[in-house]
Amino acid sequence: MRRGPLNPINLKLTLPPDEDSLTKFLTQSGTFMDGDLLVNRDGVRVVSKSEAEVPPLIKPSDNQLSLADIDTIKVIGKGAGGTVQLVQHKWTGQFFALKVIQMNIQESALKHIAQELKINQSSQCPYVVVCYKSFYDNGAFSIILEYMDGGSLLDFLKKVKSIPEPYLAAICNQVLKGLLYLHHERHIIHRDLKPSNLLINHRGEVKITDFGVSAILTSTSGQANTFVGTYNYMSPERISGGKYGSKSDIWSLGLVLLECATGQFPYSPPEQGEGWTSFYELMEAIVEQPQPCASTDQFSPEFCSFISACIQKDPNDRKSAHELMAHPFISKYRDLNVDLATYFTNAGSPLATF
Ligand code: ATP
Ligand code: MG
Repeated sequence: MRRGPLNPINLKLTLPPDEDSLTKFLTQSGTFMDGDLLVNRDGVRVVSKSEAEVPPLIKPSDNQLSLADIDTIKVIGKGAGGTVQLVQHKWTGQFFALKVIQMNIQESALKHIAQELKINQSSQCPYVVVCYKSFYDNGAFSIILEYMDGGSLLDFLKKVKSIPEPYLAAICNQVLKGLLYLHHERHIIHRDLKPSNLLINHRGEVKITDFGVSAILTSTSGQANTFVGTYNYMSPERISGGKYGSKSDIWSLGLVLLECATGQFPYSPPEQGEGWTSFYELMEAIVEQPQPCASTDQFSPEFCSFISACIQKDPNDRKSAHELMAHPFISKYRDLNVDLATYFTNAGSPLATF
């Protein structure tokens, strides 16, 4: 059942009566409210009714977020690299997703990872999942992420089977804005764009997540073999071990869209019903076979043209995120105000909203 927004009044705290314990209480935590009293490290102040109804949310720049201040609600996902939990901040009631990646690594690799995670944390784009904080402790990386209550596009696709073009164009528009930011502003290649790394929420927002994380897992010496995430969306030039750039993400985007439109991964296994017998067979098919395309019988000319602008074996033949923003498939639906919020919400209840 869908839970309504959390009322801050439910979180009302009875403040310890004596000054000593109040000080102790405050230093252990961040900000909380009692009625119209806002209490934090800066002191106590009276806030207006409207301010009091919305607890001050934690911003990515806040340094107050610590693992001691969050409660685990439940496990919401498991990937090759680790587990993702829905967690709630004790004092503000705000939900987050906590990703825990187990790895025992050398100190030199730690530095590299810390660097990657810093890039992650400093990203400020509404189309990229916010990374609030990351910690390394006792062989595990914990990353506190923005919680996306609709889960991933992979979860969503399992429910709806396939996504009609107008919704797909609206989803793609947001993914392109995220890629535009990563590629053109930050000069970052995602490297692992796939349905499970596109997250959705009840507001109809679509955000890219896990950029840098795959790089961490693959670049850490001794850990490469333990990275068993999917390679299905990897571009031919990456599989062949050649040089690759941001166009590699565009290939992945094309495959993701085609899969969402048809409900099937675009490379079908050689023998019906058997699946790919080995990982190498699929990799060989991606490199050797002609690229997949959208069927003109089933889809609009704009969609088919968009797919072939993304899925080209030669990266130089693929369009950039910037060029794709102006493609007729995107512009055709841009002004129609496609309601993704209702579409996402009707397909299934989110775990929790705030
Ligand atoms: P892989 O490990 O192969 O990359 P993955 O992307 O599915 O696969 P995770 O990134 O660990 O692995 O995510 C697992 C699942 O957890 C996702 O499919 C999604 O359902 C959920 N999830 C991940 N991050 C969030 C988040 N920020 N908010 C809500 N759900 C999330
Ligand atoms: Mg992921």
